[in-house]
Amino acid sequence: MDKPLILIVEDDPPIRNLISATLKTQDYKFITASNGETAIAEAASHNPDIMLLDLGLPDMDGVSVIKRVRSWSNMPIIVISARSEDSDKIAALDAGADDYLTKPFSVEELLARLRATLRRIAAAENGDFAGGAIFENGELNIDYAAGCAYLSGEELHLTPIEYKLLCLLARNVGKVLTHTYITGKIWGRSWDSDIASLRVFMATLRKKLQPDPTSPEYIQTHIGVGYRMVKV
Ligand code: CA
Repeated sequence: MDKPLILIVEDDPPIRNLISATLKTQDYKFITASNGETAIAEAASHNPDIMLLDLGLPDMDGVSVIKRVRSWSNMPIIVISARSEDSDKIAALDAGADDYLTKPFSVEELLARLRATLRRIAAAENGDFAGGAIFENGELNIDYAAGCAYLSGEELHLTPIEYKLLCLLARNVGKVLTHTYITGKIWGRSWDSDIASLRVFMATLRKKLQPDPTSPEYIQTHIGVGYRMVKV
């Protein structure tokens, strides 16, 4: 991908300027919108690579913007919002946002999230996540065709649910997946009891991926929200 085009959706001029100035330092191209309707129109006409989206917009809620854009586009959407409640994060992520940054945010963190998202786009374009491919992240390898996972060359002994969880996280590396999304994918439903089981399966999976505390952490817990596999 040559210089990515980023759509900044923010009604607060100082924050919009801060984000624009930050993107400029990295040579990213950007366009801006200060309300939801303009954001949707700009997204449709310019097809940006990433959308940075504020939730509190003057004409509509950012979650509605996500839902509308998701009806025709898979473009990554990173929410940047002052709402720090888990329920707000979950609503945005379940509506189809890829990531969530809480205001006030550091410029470094914004750039790190952008880089992670751009890596994921590049990997998807190269077909790294296509069926049958080998997934690699640090010392972790998954051979999707063979249905096996390896850590430092040693085969991991995973239960079928642990393996499914690992593949789901790996195919969405860098992205926070909500409890509801994960249980929906694994069990096809999302009861409270499934979310409780998910915690148990995730704990055993993490223990296998991180045999001692000094080994790299592959799975990050977002308390009250969900899990993310980090690119090591
Ligand atoms: Ca706002």
